[in-house]
Amino acid sequence: MKTEEYIEKAEGALLHTYNRYPVVLDRGEGVYLYDTNGKKYLDFAAGIAVFALGYHYKGLDEALKNQVDKLIHTSNLFYNVPALDAAAKLKEVTGLDRVFFTNSGTEAIEGAIKLARKYAWKKDHGHDHEIIAMNHSFHGRTMGALSVTGNEHYQEPFKPMIGGIKFAEFNNLDSVKALVNEKTCAIIMETLQGEGGIYQAEESFIKGVRQICDEHDILLILDEIQCGMGRTGTMFCFQQYGVMPDIMTVAKALGCGVPIGAFVCTEKAASLEPGDHGTTYGGNPMVCAAASKVLDIFKEDDILEHVKEVGAYLYEKLEEIKESSPIVTAHRGMGLMQGLEVSCAPSEVITKAMDRGLIIISAGSNVLRFVPPLVITKEHVDEMTAILKECLA
Ligand SMILES: *Cc1c(COP(=O)(O)O)cnc(C)c1O
Repeated sequence: MKTEEYIEKAEGALLHTYNRYPVVLDRGEGVYLYDTNGKKYLDFAAGIAVFALGYHYKGLDEALKNQVDKLIHTSNLFYNVPALDAAAKLKEVTGLDRVFFTNSGTEAIEGAIKLARKYAWKKDHGHDHEIIAMNHSFHGRTMGALSVTGNEHYQEPFKPMIGGIKFAEFNNLDSVKALVNEKTCAIIMETLQGEGGIYQAEESFIKGVRQICDEHDILLILDEIQCGMGRTGTMFCFQQYGVMPDIMTVAKALGCGVPIGAFVCTEKAASLEPGDHGTTYGGNPMVCAAASKVLDIFKEDDILEHVKEVGAYLYEKLEEIKESSPIVTAHRGMGLMQGLEVSCAPSEVITKAMDRGLIIISAGSNVLRFVPPLVITKEHVDEMTAILKECLA
């Protein structure tokens, strides 16, 4: 079929919730994608920070295929080996104590909210139910996660949101302090804001928030769904700040393409008991076999060291582009999660890049976002910047 025919078929059946690029992707190899016409693209989006290991990383497909042949799904009425392996490994890399597997990022956020509310409820039966979230944050599209997402545009048609949510300014400790009272049970934020435009937390801010939480017995929820899993050069971004969350959410790259997320918490915050929460698919053997293998690969192949090296190189190259291009007005980010703020519509640059065989995406209203597979090399960075320069010229 021709591209136009595929698109017509898609738009005839799918709910139109995305303005998609007119490209039908067909297969991936390493850090390249191919469309149904056989056109090749260098992938600097990785399925939105999902394909940390690129396409068909050695051993990952095999681990998944082996599990498919054995058992795809059980139910959470029984134990399964891949889930207990994946949970133990996730405990180890986070330094936290208890894991609940979900099917997506937004569900991990839902769980984190419930955990915080139950923790507070156990203290005084729900008086302290308020949650402080950040402006320009993104935590997902289900009603609870949407309620803590600081974006009026996403919330407006779906009001009322869940109650008791207040919004502070990210990186403004006074604005957080002003909202804290005896009703506050949790503060939620991304360690490095992704969708909002690639804004990293300042060290004094995150440490200050941690201190407020300690003083008032408030739980700190760090959303590492996008910035976690090695993307910033440490397994989780919070590990660069010398603070620990009480609850952390992870998803996107955890399964490198299979739908799995998790919320992970300290023993102290582990308030949920049998009957409080559940999911049919969450933590099934197929997705956990993938996550378990991904965590092994990170360790065995020292993915973090690679991210540090290539991330620094990407930073240098994007800094050069910022200096030389009048369209680029700012450069932010860490590791392999970086952004260039532009004075034109990001989609203009993205479309030109796509024509030239490069996939990049946007964040916020004016940021080009770079979230490539973590296995990208310096040569790939050079290839990307050569195309980007043409598009910005
Ligand atoms: C993508 C994302 C989510 C939502 O994850 P889904 O899997 O799309 O539900 C939540 N928080 C952050 C920081 C994200 O980047």
